[in-house]
Amino acid sequence: MVQEEGSFNLDKLVTFEASWDPFDESDKYRGALNVANYMRSIAEPTLTGHFGGTIIGNLFGRYCQYSAAMVFVKVLHMNGGSGKTSYAKKKMILEARPFLEDSIKDAFSSGIPSCVKLSDLGCSSGPNALSAISEIIHTIHGMSKRMDCKLREFLVSLNDLPGNDFNNIFSPLPDFYKKLKKEEDDTLGHCFITEVPGSFHGRIFPSRSLDFLHSSCKAHWLSQAPAGLEKNKGHIYIANGSPPTVIQAYTNQFQRDFSLFLGLRSEEIKPGGCSSEGEVRTMVQEEGSFNLDKLETFEASWDPFDESYKYRGAQNVANCIRIVTNTEPTLATHFGGTII
Ligand code: SAH
Repeated sequence: MVQEEGSFNLDKLVTFEASWDPFDESDKYRGALNVANYMRSIAEPTLTGHFGGTIIGNLFGRYCQYSAAMVFVKVLHMNGGSGKTSYAKKKMILEARPFLEDSIKDAFSSGIPSCVKLSDLGCSSGPNALSAISEIIHTIHGMSKRMDCKLREFLVSLNDLPGNDFNNIFSPLPDFYKKLKKEEDDTLGHCFITEVPGSFHGRIFPSRSLDFLHSSCKAHWLSQAPAGLEKNKGHIYIANGSPPTVIQAYTNQFQRDFSLFLGLRSEEIKPGGCSSEGEVRTMVQEEGSFNLDKLETFEASWDPFDESYKYRGAQNVANCIRIVTNTEPTLATHFGGTII
């Protein structure tokens, strides 16, 4: 799907198992509670949206007892509260950590902007809503200390549906900022956290405004229930007895949504691959003939639909390639100047 959609190169694809196994003993609460927590971490926002938050603790408590009966694990009860699901989610975040770190290193290997613009899509609420972001900030800050010790600021946009409980994230923010500062040192620049309520099935950020985008446990959130589910009697998802047409209907919907998601994000993320400020600075320093007193960067018009130039569209792109990549002299030497 990523290849067919075409906006991104897939450098790395790693799958890992989340803790679903009812017999996994690595958790403090094992068995049925594991299963119930997992289901809760995925389904809670939808169920809360439909039925209100008051039934949720009780509902998953009963689900837990039901699972316990199914797997012969004795678990007596489960109280409500976000802390219970946070354990299951935290575990997923920990498992994903090394892959997240690798992606950050790849993304910023050629330089880190002075203000790093990050987003977490489908951030949810509760104690873990800021976990991934704090991991990302720590990793980038660590890289920045090793690279050039420049003070970096962070602009973080947390996205979820407008009905998400953003207040739940924002009231603990002062403590979050303090904790960040304490875990790092004075070399960590300011960090600004904002909310962007809206659906990631549509555009949510300006063009080329993000340096790094994170999203976890959200791929199963479809934009709509696909048509043709009437035959899926007695189920609200793909179950053992679901007919192939139902599986196909969900698959088609997922493919449409995910392709659209990739296309939209490719417009919002800054394109990589150009020499960054850091790269140029390092090269000038290493070569050694000049002192670099001042280095400024500005954006050239690459966008084929940018109307702010006299000649727009394809000509823009062609000019940009001709000038910026300096291909003209190479081509002229090889093929002669007349064809250029
Ligand atoms: N990323 C968090 C939460 C995962 S739950 C974690 O890993 O723990 C998925 C979240 O995606 C929910 O909070 C849900 O409200 C949000 N979500 C679902 N559909 C969405 C959409 N179309 N746009 C934005 N957020 C969405």
